[in-house]
Amino acid sequence: MFLTNIFSPNISYNKIFYCLGTVINLTAFGKNCEVAISEAIEALEKIDNTFSAFKDFSEVSNINKNAHSNFVKLSAETFFLIESSIYYSKLTNGNFDPTIKPLVNLWSIGKENFKIPNKTEISNVLKLVNYNDLILDKKNSSIMLKNNGQSIDLGGIAKGYAADKIKEVFYKHKIKRGIIDLGGNIVVIGQKAPKQNWNIGVQNPFSTRGEYIGILNLKDKSVVTSGNYERYSVVNGKHYHHIINPKTGYPEDTDVVSVTVISDKSIDGDGLSTGLYIMGVLNSINLINSLKGIDCIFITRNKNVYSTNGIKNNFKLTNEEFNFQEVI
Ligand code: ADP
Ligand code: MG
Repeated sequence: MFLTNIFSPNISYNKIFYCLGTVINLTAFGKNCEVAISEAIEALEKIDNTFSAFKDFSEVSNINKNAHSNFVKLSAETFFLIESSIYYSKLTNGNFDPTIKPLVNLWSIGKENFKIPNKTEISNVLKLVNYNDLILDKKNSSIMLKNNGQSIDLGGIAKGYAADKIKEVFYKHKIKRGIIDLGGNIVVIGQKAPKQNWNIGVQNPFSTRGEYIGILNLKDKSVVTSGNYERYSVVNGKHYHHIINPKTGYPEDTDVVSVTVISDKSIDGDGLSTGLYIMGVLNSINLINSLKGIDCIFITRNKNVYSTNGIKNNFKLTNEEFNFQEVI
């Protein structure tokens, strides 16, 4: 037992717990697996305490309370995450927007107090949503929100950042094989076995969790999905899901059911997936084909599947109800 613990690379450790508003499932292989996971849990809790928009003492809450016409000092990691958010806002043509919070609050999708807002409410709140109103002072690591009532929500990107952080923790402990699963945002480390990649199922958005439409064959990659099927509210048979178009103020009404982004860094996957969902198939595939090392897979309402060129050799569609289509 003692010898196995020290010398076997096959020893593994797994923890499932709740953090960042979702179920986290961490697996590490190798002799430092236990310490790596306990350090990862600490790192995740710190990230949750920093970026949660619901915790009163978080840095994000501090910004939302105190940064109106007043610079608020930020930790290096919060500055980095906000700067990154602005980068993805620009890349997705404003469809990802970290200043979405007033709209998220107005809709309260998936919450008990959900109700469809009226047009006046939407147009009033819409004026507060604009990432160009985030004024960053790099030298002093601080931020100001241009207008009263503005607030930020990093929920569309924080899990990607967190997954990259956990990967760093694993690397520090020489973990060469593992799986980081933050509520379906996956990062695989190394390979499943020598010369054998990990298999990651792409969730079937029309059926219960765990069923997949096809399999990705990957090593050392992040796989992040944004979709309309996990968090939503229903009124008169119509679904209102949690991805809100920052230009219209409404949950994006689209043929897209989910978009999965495959990338090296999970922050790229998470930062892009939310905006790509709104941008739609054609614009997104063109954008992602132009970015090196990033790929995406779209599933639409009529069960068509579209992907960028780079992933075609590593993705196998296995569910016959779905059909691969080329973007024209
Ligand atoms: P999930 O967090 O469910 O995995 P996403 O990464 O797509 O999915 O993030 C969705 C969350 O991002 C929403 O719950 C909301 O907090 C926030 N959000 C919604 N619409 C936008 C948007 N257009 N831009 C940025 N963040 C958004
Ligand atoms: Mg996202």
